[in-house]
Amino acid sequence: GFNCGIVGLPNVGKSTLFNALTATASAQAANYPFCTIEPNVGRVAVPDPRLENLARVGKSQRILPTSLEFVDIAGLVRGASRGEGLGNQFLANIREVDAIIHVLRCFEDDDITHVEGGVDPVRDAEIIETELMLADLDSLEKRIVALQKKARGNDREAQAQVELMEPLIAALREGRPARTVIPAGQEATAARLQLMTTKPVLYVCNVEEGSAATGNNFSKAVEERAKAEGAACVVVSAAIEAEVSQLPAEDQKEFLEGLGLEDSGLDRVIAAGYRLLGLSTYFTVGPKETRAWTITAGTKAPQAAAVIHNDFERGFIACETVSYDDYVKYNGEAGAKEAGRMRVEGRDYIVQDGDVLLFRFNV
Ligand code: GDP
Repeated sequence: GFNCGIVGLPNVGKSTLFNALTATASAQAANYPFCTIEPNVGRVAVPDPRLENLARVGKSQRILPTSLEFVDIAGLVRGASRGEGLGNQFLANIREVDAIIHVLRCFEDDDITHVEGGVDPVRDAEIIETELMLADLDSLEKRIVALQKKARGNDREAQAQVELMEPLIAALREGRPARTVIPAGQEATAARLQLMTTKPVLYVCNVEEGSAATGNNFSKAVEERAKAEGAACVVVSAAIEAEVSQLPAEDQKEFLEGLGLEDSGLDRVIAAGYRLLGLSTYFTVGPKETRAWTITAGTKAPQAAAVIHNDFERGFIACETVSYDDYVKYNGEAGAKEAGRMRVEGRDYIVQDGDVLLFRFNV
């Protein structure tokens, strides 16, 4: 599965957000295999309004959304890359996640200590990013020495690695994250370096309750920074989300509307995390269940089938496919077939977001 690590300075609302995320998921547990994997790891359902419609048309007994994992990575402080505050341990946790959710304190509250003395989310973002850049620089500088030696001995593999690493080191020394200098097409190779500043970032601006609908000046400053770096940004009030997560599902919408909010901030965080990871969803629909499955964009049919079961990839013959829109418009499989909207596709078919798929395979 894919995961997002929640990072940020102490007292910005990370745990509040993480607990709200996982509490909401457990509230939905009636039809969802929620689990807290470890105290700081939670798997949450990815909300998708298409599921309801598919289940209605397909007369499915139950709905199984797809899921995303969140890891609460506490304890990053200024100096983490030099080992401050158990920094190395937390940095190691960040290396393992696929994307970074950076929670920024955008609320004032004199009762809650700010480790940097006052609220300034753009400065906070820079502090954390600096620590991540320093840690990346340190890890590359350590590795490149041996590689350069090998490269001089005409080791092609080592030469290629050095060629990729040198501009990354140069950028990091100038205070630019590694993601800004990765050549197009080299993303996969770069990912193998396990750097932190190549991971996609979502800023979550944690604002006071009264600003949840509108944002505030702090969150606007973060939004500008996010835009400049091509990062994603979501405004939430972790305090509101914590309250909502304790309500029964049927009361949540009304509560949010009372505050002028259209949807839950958590839903927006989950959806943004999903997009951040470049993930797509396909569906399987049957009388037993309508289910969503996660793939990375660009995945071909046999590998998409492997998400359900490895045997499906090995024995893959073909798949029947119809888009979500057509499935609903023509009232299900039979109607879509009659209208000629159902296609048979082979092993080179690139599965599209929203495809309803039926696999044919040898066992
Ligand atoms: P973490 O250290 O980043 O995990 O922060 P926590 O989630 O533990 O929150 C630190 C403190 O800030 C707690 O006392 C929270 O109740 C409080 N807090 C979190 N979010 C908000 C918020 O939106 N508004 C206010 N006023 N307090 C908040």
